[in-house]
Amino acid sequence: MGEAVRVAVVTGGNRGMGLATARALGRLGMKVVLTARDGVKGESAALRLRAEGLDVQSFTLDVTSAAGCVGLARWLADGHGRVDVLVNNAGAIFDPPDPSKPDDASVLKAKPETLMRSFETNTLGAFLVSKALVPLMQKGGYGRVVNVSSGMGQLAEMNGGWPGYRISKTALNALTKLMADELGDGPIKVNSICPGWVRTDMGGPGANRSVEEGIDTTVWAATLPDDGPTGTFLRDREPIAW
Ligand code: NAP
Repeated sequence: MGEAVRVAVVTGGNRGMGLATARALGRLGMKVVLTARDGVKGESAALRLRAEGLDVQSFTLDVTSAAGCVGLARWLADGHGRVDVLVNNAGAIFDPPDPSKPDDASVLKAKPETLMRSFETNTLGAFLVSKALVPLMQKGGYGRVVNVSSGMGQLAEMNGGWPGYRISKTALNALTKLMADELGDGPIKVNSICPGWVRTDMGGPGANRSVEEGIDTTVWAATLPDDGPTGTFLRDREPIAW
């Protein structure tokens, strides 16, 4: 009997780097569950990938819904009996678009709601999905969790502007460290990655990296060997400062 096919979950998989990550993991032979908060968009993305010959299903999930995350875990347990890879990719920027306008984007002028909404999607979302899915990984004795973070959340390089986004990604990095420490040297690895500045709806057309370049480290961290790193922040497959 051959080895069982790995099951991968990619959140925010309907467009941008999430969609490209789903495609890349599918091409590696995994069964991919692409989640999207808009079920129609999710299924149309999955349909596109199935037309490319890949094994991809969609699941409707707003990552800020605890009940939705628990529902995903149940659906995976019932339908697949396992989950091996989780890419916490869903993310959004709620800060005003132009950081050169200090009245809008300064941390001292930011609206509390902006910080709360950023935290809810970028940090709490990854927390809720991980909390729901890691027990299934533990049951299977294997897991790779990739938290798609950003250099904008790096304390070592923290500049002004974009406070909601920056703080939520710093907190996401804290989640990575917490989970990695608690899971220790076991079979589940948890890492944050920075994709660089990538040409997606979020990054805009002026970004210096293609989507394929942007997902390289994510895919690498999602397929780490047993002696690979855990509890690190990675860019271009190398650890960077927190
Ligand atoms: P994108 O094209 O804007 O896609 C973002 C994805 O996240 C979409 O699928 C979006 O769904 C989904 N999403 C947002 N809020 C959600 C929620 N509450 N529940 C479920 N899904 C939700 O962005 P991207 O550039 O591919 O970004 C992917 C990840 O990379 C993000 O975490 C981002 O912070 C990070 N990142 C990006 C860059 C860059 O330069 N692009 C740089 C550093 C880090 P909808 O289609 O429904 O909105």
